[in-house]
Amino acid sequence: MTRSETLYQEAVTKIPGGVNSPVRAFGSVGMTPRFIASAQGAYLTDVDGIRYLDYIGSWGPMILGHAVPFVLEKVQEACQKGLSFGAATEAEVEMAQLICEMVPSVEMVRMVNSGTEAVMSAVRVARGYTGRNKIIKFEGCYHGHSDAMLVKAGSGVMTAGVPDSAGVPKGCTQDTLLCAYNDIKGVEALFDACGDEIAAVIVEPVGANMGVVEPADGFLERLRSLCTENGSVLVFDEVITGFRLAKAGAQEYYGVEADLTTYGKIIGGGMPVGAYGGKKEIMEVVAPVGSVYQAGTLSGNPVAMAAGLAQLTYLNEHPEIYQKLTKLGEMLYGGLRTLCKEHHLPCQVNAVGSLGCLFFTSEPVTDYTSAKRSNTKAFTKYFRYMLEHGIYLAPSQFEAMFLSAAHTKENVQKTLDLIQGYFA
Ligand SMILES: *Cc1c(COP(=O)(O)O)cnc(C)c1O
Repeated sequence: MTRSETLYQEAVTKIPGGVNSPVRAFGSVGMTPRFIASAQGAYLTDVDGIRYLDYIGSWGPMILGHAVPFVLEKVQEACQKGLSFGAATEAEVEMAQLICEMVPSVEMVRMVNSGTEAVMSAVRVARGYTGRNKIIKFEGCYHGHSDAMLVKAGSGVMTAGVPDSAGVPKGCTQDTLLCAYNDIKGVEALFDACGDEIAAVIVEPVGANMGVVEPADGFLERLRSLCTENGSVLVFDEVITGFRLAKAGAQEYYGVEADLTTYGKIIGGGMPVGAYGGKKEIMEVVAPVGSVYQAGTLSGNPVAMAAGLAQLTYLNEHPEIYQKLTKLGEMLYGGLRTLCKEHHLPCQVNAVGSLGCLFFTSEPVTDYTSAKRSNTKAFTKYFRYMLEHGIYLAPSQFEAMFLSAAHTKENVQKTLDLIQGYFA
C-alpha cells in the first residue's frame, strides 16, 4: 500500500470522508486522494515522493506558483512579530488601500477568513442596505456553504429555493431565487414579478464551479442595468476571478462594475483570507459604523495579511503576469480545442484567460444543465490517465483548471502531448 493509501485509511476513521473539504476525497472519480507533502512552483509532491504538474493551484490562490520565496519571507517576518493580536494593525490598512487601488469599484473593504464568510456577509450587507430580503443566485454558481446559498435546482423560477443540503432549514433558502446561468429572460421575469423585493443579484461573473462557463454577451451588462433600475445590489463573487482575469478581476475583463464584490482564495496568497467590499455608501452599513453586524476574531490576521499583501502587491506591480497567463491559457486551451477537432472528440473546451475546462459532451456548455450532460465516466478515465502520468487535475468534471505564472510553455506542451497520446 502507498503512504497516501495508508493515510487515507487512517483519515477516514477520524475525519468525515478522510478530508476537510469534500472534493478532496476524489469521490467523483472513484479514487482515493493523494496526500500532498510539499509544493514548489508548478509542482506538487505527495507523501510517496511522486511529483505532479499541478493544475489546481490550491483552487486558485497559487497564481504565482507554490512556495514563492518573497511571499514566504514576508510570512516568516510577520510570524516573528506574533501570530495574532486581536487588534488593528498597519498591514490591514495597507491591504485595504491596495485592494481599493486595484479595483475601482471597491471604495471600502472588510477582511474576513474565507470566501464563504465573504459571501455570507455581503448578502447580509445587501439586505441591510436595501431593507429587502430576496436574492437571486444562479444554478451552478458556488458561493460557499452558508445556509442561504445551498439551494437546489429544479424548483423553478418564481418559487422559493429548496435547500440542497440536509441541515438547512427551508426558512433559510425561502428568499433565495434561482435562475439558470446566462438566462437573462428568467432574471427579467423575476424582476418583473418582485423587483422591489430583491436585495441582491449574486453571480460568478465567470462560472468556475460547474467547470468553466462564460457569461453570454450582454449577460453581465443586463444584470447591471436590472439592478440599477430596481435599486438592487449587484454582487460579483470574484473569489476565483478576482485578481486572476485582470487586476480588477472579471469587472475589468468584461467592463461591468459590481456594487459589492466578494474575494477569497488569491487574496490570501495561500492563507485563509476572504474579503468583501464595494461602494462606500453600501459598506458604511457595516458595524461599527452602521447597523449590519459582522465580526471576526482572526479577521485581518497579521500573518495572513502578510501573505496576501505580498502576492497582491506583486500582481499590482507586474501587470505583465496577466499577459503571460493569457498566453499560456491560449496555448493550453487552444491546443486542447485543436486536439478535440483533430480527433473528432465529443468534447467542449471552455476557457477564459488562465481558467479552462474540458467538458466531455458534444453540446456547447452555457449553463448548469448543459454542463451536467458531460460524460463523467469519460472524464474519470481521462483524469486517471493524467494523474498516472504526473498531471494533477481537479478530481471532478465540474471544476476549472488553473494556470499559474510558474507554469512554462514546456509544461503546457508536455500536457498537450500527453493528452494527444491519450486520445490517439
Ligand atoms: C471557493 C469559492 C467560494 C468559497 O470560498 P471558501 O474560501 O472555500 O469558503 C465562494 N465563491 C466562489 C466563487 C468560490 O469559488
